[in-house]
Amino acid sequence: MFRRTAPAEQADRLPLTVHNEHPVQHSIAIEHAFDTAHRLPELGGKCASLHGHSWRVRVVVSAISLSSDFTVVEFGAVKAGVRQWIDTHLDHGTMLGHRDPLTAPLAAAGCKVFRFGSDQPSTGPESLAGDLAWPTVEAVAVLLRRVSHNVLRDLPGAPPHVRIGQVVVRETRTNSAAYGPEEPA
Ligand SMILES: [Zn+2]
Repeated sequence: MFRRTAPAEQADRLPLTVHNEHPVQHSIAIEHAFDTAHRLPELGGKCASLHGHSWRVRVVVSAISLSSDFTVVEFGAVKAGVRQWIDTHLDHGTMLGHRDPLTAPLAAAGCKVFRFGSDQPSTGPESLAGDLAWPTVEAVAVLLRRVSHNVLRDLPGAPPHVRIGQVVVRETRTNSAAYGPEEPA
C-alpha cells in the first residue's frame, strides 16, 4: 500500500513510500564508450606500462518524483553533455598522473593528455581530478561522476530534485569501479 509522505502543498511532487521503506526513486541511465590510454607507475607490474582500454561508463540519474512530462530528466541533454566532455578531454588521449615523466613529452608531441592530481589548475577540466593522484579506474569513476554532476547542474531549467546516482566505469571485461550511492533495490 502506498502512502504519501510530503506536505499537501507539494502535491505535484509527492514521493511515495511503501510500508515505510525508503522513498521510491526513479532513475535513468546513460552510457558512453571511449578509447583512452593510461598507466599507473605507482602500482608497478603491467599497469606501469603505457596501455589503452576501451572504457565504458554508465551514469545513473535519479529523482524521487517525475517532472510534469513524466521524465526524470531529458535523456538527450545529459547524454550529449557527458559524451561531449569525455570526447573532448579523454577520448583518443592519455590519462596520466601529473608527476608522470611521460606527461611533458607526450604533450610536446601533440598528444592529448589529461593530468590527474595536478594542483596547478584551480579551474578547467583537470581541476575535477586535482585531488586524484593517478588515473585508476576508481579515480576515473570519481572524475566522471563530477563531470556528470556539472552537466546536470548546468542544464537550462534543471529540476532541483534530480541527482546523479552511481557512476560505473569499466576498463576491461573483468575490471570495473563504481562511485556514488547504490541504486535502490
Ligand atoms: Zn589499465
